[in-house]
Amino acid sequence: CGIVGYAGPVDTPSTRPLDVALEGLRRLEYRGYDSAGIAVVAPDLTQIAARKKAGKLGNLVAVLDAEPLPEATASIGHTRWATHGGPTDLNAHPHIADGGRLAVIHNGIIENFAVLREALRAQGVTFLSETDTEVAAHLLASEYRAAGDLAEAMRATARKLEGTFTLLAVHADLPGTVVGARHDSPLVVGLGEGENFLGSDVAAFVSSTREALELGQDQVVTITAASVEVTDFDGNAVETTPYTVDWDA
Ligand code: GLU
Repeated sequence: CGIVGYAGPVDTPSTRPLDVALEGLRRLEYRGYDSAGIAVVAPDLTQIAARKKAGKLGNLVAVLDAEPLPEATASIGHTRWATHGGPTDLNAHPHIADGGRLAVIHNGIIENFAVLREALRAQGVTFLSETDTEVAAHLLASEYRAAGDLAEAMRATARKLEGTFTLLAVHADLPGTVVGARHDSPLVVGLGEGENFLGSDVAAFVSSTREALELGQDQVVTITAASVEVTDFDGNAVETTPYTVDWDA
C-alpha cells in the first residue's frame, strides 16, 4: 500500500497537511487501489478528523469535496491493497481507536491479529472492521493509556506484533506529531524546513523535499515540525544518516 505522513507547525493550522497527504497518495496510488483515507489533527480538535472511501483516490477526493476536512497541523494518508477484509469503506484505513482520538494506518500483514483481537475483545474493545490493522490501532491505544507516551506505546505495540508492518499514528493529544514504526516493510523520512514527512517511498514527499533518511529494520520514528527522533524497538536512540534524493520527480 501507499503511506504518507506530515507534521507542520502547531501554531499555524492550514490546508497543507491535507494537501501533502493527497499529493503523496496521488504519487503512491499505483501501490493500492482498494481504498484511500486521510486523518488529520489540530490543536483545536478534541478528536481525529478523518475521511476514507473504498475504491480509487478519486472517490476519496469526492468525499473531501462534499465534507471538507478542517485546517490541521499533522496528517496521515493511506491507499490500501486489501489482505484481510474486503475492499469496503469500513475496512479502509485509517482505523480509529481510543474513543476517536487515535488514528492508525498500516502497510503489511499482522500474522497474530486473531489472538490479539480476542484479548482486546475480552477487555471490551468493539471492532468495526475485518482488518488485521484495526487490532494494531486498539493495541496502540491500550499501550498509550499505559505509557502516556505515543512513541513508547508504538515500541510496545511493535514488540507484540508478528508479521510485516509499516505503521503510522496520530493522536488528538499531540497535534504536531506523527509516530511511525517499521518491520520488514519500508518507511522513509523526508526532512523539510519547519516541517517533516514520512512515506512508504520518497515519491510520497519528493515534490516538497529531497533530503531524506531511511528508517532501519525494527525502528520507531517520531516527527514534529522541528524534530526527527529515531529509536530501536527497545527505545535506544539510533544514529541516522540523511541523503539527497537524486531522481527526477
Ligand atoms: N493488511 C492490511 C489490510 O488488509 C493492510 C493492507 C495494505 O498493506 O494496504 O487492511
